[in-house]
Amino acid sequence: MSGNLNRDIRTLTLPEIESFFLENKEKKFRAKQVYEWLWKKQCLSFQEMTNLSQETRKFLADHFRFPVIRTDTEKRSADGSVKLLFRLPDDLVVEGVLIPVEDRTTACISSQVGCPLGCLFCATGILGYERHLTFTEIVDQVILLNNLSLRDQGIPLSNIVYMGMGEPLLNYDEVMKSVERITSPDALGMSPQRITVSTVGIPRMIKRMADDDVKFHVALSLHAATNLKRNQIVPLNKKYPLEDLVEALQYFHEKTGKRITIEYILFRNFNDSLADAKDLAVFCRNFPVKINLIEYNPVKGSAFEKPDPQKTAAFHDFLERKNMVVNIRKSRGKDIEAACGQLAAKKERL
Ligand code: SF4
Repeated sequence: MSGNLNRDIRTLTLPEIESFFLENKEKKFRAKQVYEWLWKKQCLSFQEMTNLSQETRKFLADHFRFPVIRTDTEKRSADGSVKLLFRLPDDLVVEGVLIPVEDRTTACISSQVGCPLGCLFCATGILGYERHLTFTEIVDQVILLNNLSLRDQGIPLSNIVYMGMGEPLLNYDEVMKSVERITSPDALGMSPQRITVSTVGIPRMIKRMADDDVKFHVALSLHAATNLKRNQIVPLNKKYPLEDLVEALQYFHEKTGKRITIEYILFRNFNDSLADAKDLAVFCRNFPVKINLIEYNPVKGSAFEKPDPQKTAAFHDFLERKNMVVNIRKSRGKDIEAACGQLAAKKERL
């Protein structure tokens, strides 16, 4: 294999880097050093590979690209969460959020630039769609948010959620490759049990995750438990109605034994009544679930409003009385536009 300037060095396997070194009459063990810099030490340039000679670093730079993402803007919320706007090599932007809660930190990361699915309550959906992220662009978000967690909180990331911009299952291959790198012992080495991939619901891809025997958790962004209501806020529901999702999630549960996390954003006077809670309870009887209720964080351009706290509590209590595992998740970073897509949307308008 010879060097190819169009090729990102991080798309090469260790054997491929070894072949490259051997073909170019360089020592094979250098390949291992390079691979360690790329994945164990997570360096972000050839120049950082300080145990290689300047000639070897230049040699690599002459033969491969090393595109990385950079932090463009950092916004800190009074509640401790930090939103980062990332600048991609082609100058587009995506965002990630670091959410510290007690002695843990969660990174919320993006899988696409924008999103084509146009959910009505979502700042990213309002933004439109540009492109998929590559797996290295996804991993870079984790590296940068982990560095921030170490710097700010003194601890590495505890959890990663694919809940930022984009629908991860539309970018399946790159998302799976990013999970492989994040969890591989020769790279970031995190447990897949600490990763959650959140989807608005693409049945055939949910089944594919089951067939691929994924080890991470899956969350369904449900937000309404009848087709009549969900069609109004999630356009994709018209293509894949709830019956199809139930069938795919039952398949996923049977194959993996995993419980499904149900994300349900409460919108004032839209899906926050006890009748809605009853519909949700009926939907959740299909497989073991954990329900996260989230109070809506209003975004510019959306007609929805934050729910009444008393209604949120009543909704929660109703589900708990049905013996369901249910939590109320506080919306974080309201003062820094931390709903997915809000910061990027603002930057687009500048
Ligand atoms: Fe896309 Fe998710 Fe936003 Fe829907 S909620 S538009 S799937 S990013």
